[in-house]
Amino acid sequence: MMNEMPAHQNNLLGSDSWVLPGAQNDQTLYSWSAVYHKASGNVDAGTTSRQLFGQSDAAFTPDLPSRLDFLQTATRAHLGDAETVARTRTLAGFYRPFFPEEKYQKLITAMRGERPGAIKAELGLSRSGIVSSQTFRVCPECMEEEFKRLGYAYWHTEHQWPSCALCGRHHVLLWCFDPNSAGNSGRIFYQPKGIVPSGWIRPAASAEALQSLMKLLSWSRQLVGDNELHLDEEILRWAYLLRAKQRSWIAFDGTLRLHKLKDSFDSAYREIATLPGFSIAAETDGPNSGFLGGMFRKVVGQRHPLKHLLLLNFLFDGPEDFQKAYADHLAVKADAGVTALLKTLTDSRSKLEAWIRTQAMSVNKAAQELGVPTGQAIKYLDSVGVNREKRPRIVGTEREARLRKLLTEGVERGKIAEELSIRPGFIKDYLATHPELASEWATNHLAKLRARYREQFLKVLSDNPGLPIKAIRRIPANGFQWLYINDLEWLRSVLPAIWSRPRDS
Ligand SMILES: [Zn+2]
Repeated sequence: MMNEMPAHQNNLLGSDSWVLPGAQNDQTLYSWSAVYHKASGNVDAGTTSRQLFGQSDAAFTPDLPSRLDFLQTATRAHLGDAETVARTRTLAGFYRPFFPEEKYQKLITAMRGERPGAIKAELGLSRSGIVSSQTFRVCPECMEEEFKRLGYAYWHTEHQWPSCALCGRHHVLLWCFDPNSAGNSGRIFYQPKGIVPSGWIRPAASAEALQSLMKLLSWSRQLVGDNELHLDEEILRWAYLLRAKQRSWIAFDGTLRLHKLKDSFDSAYREIATLPGFSIAAETDGPNSGFLGGMFRKVVGQRHPLKHLLLLNFLFDGPEDFQKAYADHLAVKADAGVTALLKTLTDSRSKLEAWIRTQAMSVNKAAQELGVPTGQAIKYLDSVGVNREKRPRIVGTEREARLRKLLTEGVERGKIAEELSIRPGFIKDYLATHPELASEWATNHLAKLRARYREQFLKVLSDNPGLPIKAIRRIPANGFQWLYINDLEWLRSVLPAIWSRPRDS
């Protein structure tokens, strides 16, 4: 397994006689450094760190190490360039999809540089509460397999992801080792086979929890595996809100029903939250439901990817379901701005209001249709003053059929109201929610009026032969004025004679 390429250009390396070990697929940089350390014959791990990173402590940061430029030069890019090493052999690749492109580049720049403190502080990760964890995780089955195959076992990058609690290959829970709680820290290279059996935390979980953890891992793989993806925090927030709406966790005024959501979230992750590294899943108490409330609000700073992954896995059926919704929201925002998204969030209110105003359906039915409790619908209707008193029902009865027939015929609305004993306001609202019927009514109503005025006018003419137009216009209900405004062509073409009548008596 030894690579023949020597790394001799660095003065600290001293001799050309040693070789750099090859890196395993998915092996962390820390783990590779540990293998190198053993192969180099160095007694002091600090010396190894100086050789590889130019500094005696730099090699012992397993999550987001610094000085990768030095490493690239010292090893002649044996593991690839600094960015590739960061993306595939440290946690940077895990953070990438959750960071804007620019922020990710800043992270990489900091990791290539020589100030390790800059990495976490600048990116706002130190406040997220999980990053300080230096826990190592291993799959016990991978460990045995590798030991047989290679003579050593190594740390897998994927197993160190904060959202990974089980091996995707063997479907068993990962064992955890925390050097701090073992009383060790400082310049020590740990490898899985070097941990004493009592040093491991060996978690247990139900089959249900294992399945849920496997889903969480597929989410992580899908997002981390997409090299182009940099999720936008604002669109993510809208994706959460709009999906919460579909799940009936958004009230009519667009506010989040956080406590209901929290209860459901808690029960989904109750067991998972007891596993090492997942306690954040239970931090949902307090007036804003802990971190959960913050995921739906605009807040400053970087949210930890594990929080996003927990919520995504909770709200969406799977990565495909999410990516479709995300792309939709992105397109809506690009086309019509955030207001369009906000409108989608609150459109249940206008629907409910219209349905009840027009008696299109009962409050019960409307609430059911919108997936909200009837009590909440009533509360909202009362708050905006929509009359939801019980009136004689029209919709769905024989009276509605008669109403539609009369409207189709273009009958005067006042007449219909009288004939069917319906409020005129109801007919107006009914037409407003049935636009096709409304346009049919308008066309036929106009035709009806025209026919009536023409008939009236012809009658007046025949009743008063020879009377000049001025006198005719004084006869009640002569129809001339209406026809003059609405039907002038008819007046001119059908009755050219009237223009030649004497203008004055
Ligand atoms: Zn495994």
